[in-house]
Amino acid sequence: MSRPTRALINPQALKNNLAKAREAAPGARLMAALKANAYGHGLRRVARALDGTDAFAVATVDEAKALRSLGVGHPIVLLEGIYSPRDLQLARELDLELVVHHRFQVEALEADRGRPLRVWLKLDTGMNRLGVAPDDAIELHQRLAECRQVQDPVNLMSHLACAEETNNPMTRLQMERFDELTRGWEGERSLANSAGVLHWPDTHRDWVRVGGMLYGVLTESERTGADYGLQPAMVLESRLIAVKRLAKGETVGYGASWRAPEAMPFGIVAIGYGDGYPRHAPTGTPVAVDGTLTQTLGRVSMDMVAVDLRPCAGAGIGDRVVLWGENVACETVARHAGTIGYELTSGLTSRVPLVTAGEGAARAPASQTDPRSLESS
Ligand SMILES: *Cc1c(COP(=O)(O)O)cnc(C)c1O
Repeated sequence: MSRPTRALINPQALKNNLAKAREAAPGARLMAALKANAYGHGLRRVARALDGTDAFAVATVDEAKALRSLGVGHPIVLLEGIYSPRDLQLARELDLELVVHHRFQVEALEADRGRPLRVWLKLDTGMNRLGVAPDDAIELHQRLAECRQVQDPVNLMSHLACAEETNNPMTRLQMERFDELTRGWEGERSLANSAGVLHWPDTHRDWVRVGGMLYGVLTESERTGADYGLQPAMVLESRLIAVKRLAKGETVGYGASWRAPEAMPFGIVAIGYGDGYPRHAPTGTPVAVDGTLTQTLGRVSMDMVAVDLRPCAGAGIGDRVVLWGENVACETVARHAGTIGYELTSGLTSRVPLVTAGEGAARAPASQTDPRSLESS
């Protein structure tokens, strides 16, 4: 039997979440962020499920190229813009919209001779990642506005650093800086990521840029996507490949870091950090064995992890184990591992096949969708 470890991707969940994002930002158009292989969910199936979006956003030209080769005709925004002047030609061939976040990109456009491109001038309003500094914004905006290789008008964007923290004054400060800098300028505006969509209606503007929300995964410290009516688009599953007993006082795994407080059953699951299950997940990280919530024991190995079978009377070899996405939120596992859900979903390795829910699934994930919608995908 082939290894039972895989990630089920649910197109209905993606469609549901897209509808929720639209409901949350009713006046705005929506850019769906598909970078990093659609946050690890697989570019092709996600692009297909989200074809109701107004545009896609990717980080790199290669990701844009992959989308176009799938036949995607939507606008595609290149979030990091060009890396070198040579990328301009390709950007034109692929009909991309460019983020311009740096002086060298303005210079590249000025030196270029070709059909005008639609651009988004990215302003740094406090994130200090990409974006032109406020002091340079007026000059660079002016140059883009006069550049023949740039379509009129220049569109405007910035990125929020703390939007998931509803009490953090940073978001309002960023909005104020953005509005002050861009007052009177033409062009469409975009500020909000998923957290902006959920918590800061004033940031919605003309376009929202949504990633995590579409996958049903949020970056908040307390809540998960389910609290907002979102459905996890990924279920990571494997199976028990051994079921055994520990005597009181015996230890489990590398480093012998966990010791059995009593005689007890435990199991070994065929998944480890070689698959992208986080090695930082400590004892006590939740997993579901055949639908019953339990916990990991000891250190995560490359190919395996041990689980507590005390709550799972009758668990046997071959039983399905869900690591996240059903009964266990990806965000909860991430919290145990000291990271965010985005890192978990985008960090699955190539050893984990992505399978569309309903296609070759031994058992469809029952808890999150109407089973009928799974069969038709
Ligand atoms: C990834 C990304 C987004 C989407 O962020 P989410 O938190 O996943 O909604 C928005 N804007 C930019 C510039 C990004 O890189």
